[in-house]
Amino acid sequence: MVVVSVPCMNGGRGEASYAKNSDIQRTVISKAWPFLEETIKDMFSSSFPGCFNVADLGCSSGPNTFLVISKIIETIHKLYHQVNKKLPEFQVFLNDLPGNDFNSIFESLPDFYKRIKKDKFGPCFIAGMPGSFYERLFQSRSINFIHSSYSVHWLSKVPENLETNKRNIYITKSSPPSVCQAFLEQFQRDFSAFLSLRSEEIVSGGRMFLTFIGRSIADPSSKDCCRLWELLTKALIQLVNE
Ligand code: SAH
Repeated sequence: MVVVSVPCMNGGRGEASYAKNSDIQRTVISKAWPFLEETIKDMFSSSFPGCFNVADLGCSSGPNTFLVISKIIETIHKLYHQVNKKLPEFQVFLNDLPGNDFNSIFESLPDFYKRIKKDKFGPCFIAGMPGSFYERLFQSRSINFIHSSYSVHWLSKVPENLETNKRNIYITKSSPPSVCQAFLEQFQRDFSAFLSLRSEEIVSGGRMFLTFIGRSIADPSSKDCCRLWELLTKALIQLVNE
């Protein structure tokens, strides 16, 4: 397991300067990139399959959706060129919740295909896969490479028994220990399910690369991770009062 540490907030420049989400996520992708490249290289140390299935979980529908996919394909192409192998065909599954704007992804596909044709990439077929990554998404033993950036920290649901967490929407300094425990247990249940589901879908010798939010401070109510939610809570309470 590789842990990549990226400050996700504003570096102490004041509340008004929170960076745009997609920019933060792009930074996370670029910081994780050397490790991702290493993982891909490691995967091809022994075999070079002719067809290659990739899944991006929590792909969203913004500027980053095709970023990682292009980089993964580019890296694999370079590796195949180096050993003089025929370029593989790619099937790429873009997954997100059914409410994601898959239409806008599909509308930008012609541009994406044009770009990869210009760069002389091999055949690549993109498909949308709507559904929760806390359920089965793919056939057994069908995916060679699973990627997910900035998504797996989202829980499958709000934990139960949060009645004592009055006037909060997440863990804060005023939350009782039972609230932290409820979030922890939900994460453990979700993440165990996630790993077990993916283990059924990935091919033998495949790889999975996950980047998600963590904490550098042990205290779950530290500013490091809760500041944004505290601000959102304040805004919501103000709205309710009005
Ligand atoms: N990977 C992109 C987007 C990250 S935003 C990037 O790095 O820029 C997080 C995405 O995860 C959102 O689009 C959200 O809808 C998705 N997501 C959250 N929970 C999910 C779930 N259970 N299953 C699938 N996607 C989920």
